[in-house]
Amino acid sequence: MSEKRSVSEMFGCNVFNDSVMRERLPKAVYKDLKKTIEEGTELNPAIADVVANEMKEWALEKGATHFTHWFQPMTGVTAEKHDAFITPTENGKVLLEFSGKELIKGEPDASSFPSGGLRATFEARGYTAWDCTSPAFIKETPDSTILCIPTAFCSYTGEALDKKTPLLRSMQALDIQATRLLHLLGKKNVKNVNTSVGPEQEYFLVDKEKYLQRKDLIFTGRTLFGAMPPKGQEMDDHYFGIIRERIGKFMKELNEESWKLGITAKTQHNEVAPAQHELAPIYATNNIATDHNQLLMETMRRVAERQGLKCLLHEKPFKGINGSGKHNNWSIVTNTGKNLLEPGDTPHDNQQFLLILSAIIKAVDEHADLLRMAASTPGNDHRLGANEAPPAIISIFLGEQLEDVVKQLVTRGEATRSKHGDKLASGVHTLPDFEKDATDRNRTSPFAFTGNKFEFRMVGSTQSISDPNVVLNTIVADALSEVCDELEKVEGDLQDVMMEAHELTKRMLTDHQRVIFNGDGYSDAWVKEAERRGLPNIKSMVEAIPALITEKSVKMFEKFGVFTEAELESRAEILFEQYAQTINIEALATLDIAKKQIVPAVMKYQKTLADSVAVLKATGMDTDVQESLLGDITENLKKLYTAIGILESETDKAQSIKDMNEQARFYHDVVFGCMNAVREPADKLEMLVAKEDWPMPSYGDLIFEV
Ligand code: ADP
Ligand code: MG
Repeated sequence: MSEKRSVSEMFGCNVFNDSVMRERLPKAVYKDLKKTIEEGTELNPAIADVVANEMKEWALEKGATHFTHWFQPMTGVTAEKHDAFITPTENGKVLLEFSGKELIKGEPDASSFPSGGLRATFEARGYTAWDCTSPAFIKETPDSTILCIPTAFCSYTGEALDKKTPLLRSMQALDIQATRLLHLLGKKNVKNVNTSVGPEQEYFLVDKEKYLQRKDLIFTGRTLFGAMPPKGQEMDDHYFGIIRERIGKFMKELNEESWKLGITAKTQHNEVAPAQHELAPIYATNNIATDHNQLLMETMRRVAERQGLKCLLHEKPFKGINGSGKHNNWSIVTNTGKNLLEPGDTPHDNQQFLLILSAIIKAVDEHADLLRMAASTPGNDHRLGANEAPPAIISIFLGEQLEDVVKQLVTRGEATRSKHGDKLASGVHTLPDFEKDATDRNRTSPFAFTGNKFEFRMVGSTQSISDPNVVLNTIVADALSEVCDELEKVEGDLQDVMMEAHELTKRMLTDHQRVIFNGDGYSDAWVKEAERRGLPNIKSMVEAIPALITEKSVKMFEKFGVFTEAELESRAEILFEQYAQTINIEALATLDIAKKQIVPAVMKYQKTLADSVAVLKATGMDTDVQESLLGDITENLKKLYTAIGILESETDKAQSIKDMNEQARFYHDVVFGCMNAVREPADKLEMLVAKEDWPMPSYGDLIFEV
C-alpha cells in the first residue's frame, strides 16, 4: 500500500478541498460556495449542478465508480449507501452523471436506523442533506473507490436523526451569541465565530489471530473474562516507550491513509497500558474535526485488519488495565483568527477573556449533568470514577495563575496581578533557560483549562465527539446569551458596557466558583468535598440519561434551536435502549463462553487431575497436592455453575421488561452484577487450569505479545 510519496504530495490528495475547488470551479461559483462555507450564508442551489459535475469529474480521475451520502446516524458509527454514477443511454451504453440534486439531497430508506420513535416505520422517509462546510473525499479500499459526501440526516418533518444536525445547529447557536457579545464589546469587525476541536484518540492493538480466539472481543469489543497477568502496567514502562516495529508499521500506514483524507494526524505515542496507543490530530473546525474523528476510527480498524492486527476502540477492553478515552480539546475562534480563550500574558487585565471564561464556568456549573450525560456510554461506565479517568463529578481545573486571578476578583472585587512561572531550574548550565508555564498540568480533572483551550477529558474512546460538543457549544451559547442580555441593558458608551462586564464577571465567578477544583480528582476527599459543595456525582450512564429531558435542558435546547423536546425524548429513549442492548449482548456472550468453553475445559482438566490421583494412589504415592488442587477447582466450578444459572434467569427477566428506562436500570443494577459473579470464579479457574487447556488466549498473550 505505501507508495513512495512525500507527505505534502500525499496530504489531502483524496479531498475535494479548497485548493481543488479554487482550481476547478468557475470563479463565481467558487466565490458563492466559499461564502456559504465561511460565513454560514444559505447555499445557493443554482450552483449545485456545476459543483456536482466538477466533483464527479475529479472523482472519476481518482478512479471512483460510486458516490455516497456519508452520514452519522444515532448508532454512533457512520453509514453509507453507494450509487454508481451511471445513467443508461438509448444505445445500450451508459453516461457517467452526477447532478446537483443528487449532491444536495439523498433519500436513503432509513427505517432501520434508530429514531427513538421520531419516525414511525410506515413513514420511513429520511433525507440526507449536503454539509458543504465539510469537504467531500474519496474513500479508497482495495475493492472500491467511492466519492463520499458528508451529509446531515433528517426526517421528513425536519427532525434530526443523526449526530451531525444538532452539532451544526449548536455551532450556529454559539456563533450567534459569541458574535453578539463581541459586537457589544466593540469588536464590530468580527463576522462570525467558530469552535475548534482537537480530539486525542486512544486505542489498543492486539494480534488478530488471538483476537479471533476470543468470542468476548468479537461480540462485545471487550474481554468478559481474563485473569490479570503477572505484569500489568505498574512499571509505567509502556507510556511514551519505544514504539515496536509492528506497531510502528501500523502507525505509518495509519498516518498515510489519514493524511490522504486530509486528517492532520500529528502526534503518536504509546499510552499507559501495554498495547495501548494514542493519536492526536491538529485541531480543526468542530464539524470537520468530528467527521475526521469518525473517519480516523474507521481507518484505524481498516489498517489494523490489513496488518494482521485488531484495533480495539472500546473504553475498557481489559479489566484491571487502563481503558481508553478521547480528550476533546475545545476553543472558540473568530473569523479574524482570534482565539477567545487566549488569556495573553496578563490575564488579570484581559477583561474580555475573563468575561468569557466566567461565562464558561457558569455554563459548566449549571449544566454539569448534561456534560456528564454527553460522556456516557456503556463502556465508559467502567472508566469514569475508576481512578484512571476523570471522576464522574464535573469540575473545572484552571491552573494556578487563573485560579489566583479568580480569587482576587471574588475576594477583592478586582484583579491586579497575574502570577508568572519561574525559570526552569534544571541545574545544568548547558540546558536552555526558559520560563515555565504559569501552571502545571492536572490529569485528574475532567474539564481542564490548558493554556488557550478547554480539554474535556471524560469522553469515551468509541464515542462520536458530536455528543460532547453539542452540549458544550449550547451551554456556552446559553451563558453568553444571558451575558448579552445584561450588557444590552446598559445605557451609555463602551466604557459603561465594560464596567458592567466587569461586574458580571465577578458575579458569575462568585456564584459558580464551587465548580472550580485544582486538587486531586481521584481522591476520596474530593468526592466528599464535591458533595459538600453540592456538585452532582452521577455514577452511571442510566443515571445520566435523564439529564437530557429535564425541564431546564429542554428549555435551553429549544431556545437555541438545537433540539426540540421530541428530539430530546427520542434521544433519551435510544440511549436507554442502546444501554440495555449492550448489556444484554454482554450477558449472552458471558453465558455462551462460560457454558460452551470454560465449563467443558475445566471439566476436562478436572478429569485429567482425577485420573492422575487414581494412578498415584494405586502406586501408593502421596496425592495431597493433586487433591487440594482438585478441591479448589471443584469449588470454583460449583460457584461458576450457580452464577451461570442466576445470570440466565435475570437476563430472561430483563428481556421481558417493557419500559425502556426500567429495563436499562435493571440491566445496570442486576444483570451487570450477575455477569461479574460469573467472571469471578472463572478468572480464578484460569489460574488453576493448565495453560494449554484454557480455551482462549490470556491477558498476557493479548497485551504483551502484539
Ligand atoms: P496533550 O497530550 O498534552 O494534551 P496533545 O498534543 O496530545 O497534547 O493534544 C492536544 C490536542 O489539542 C491536539 O489535537 C491539538 O491540535 C489540540 N489543540 C491545540 N490547541 C487547540 C486549540 N486552540 N483549540 C482546540 N484544540 C487545540
Ligand atoms: Mg491532552
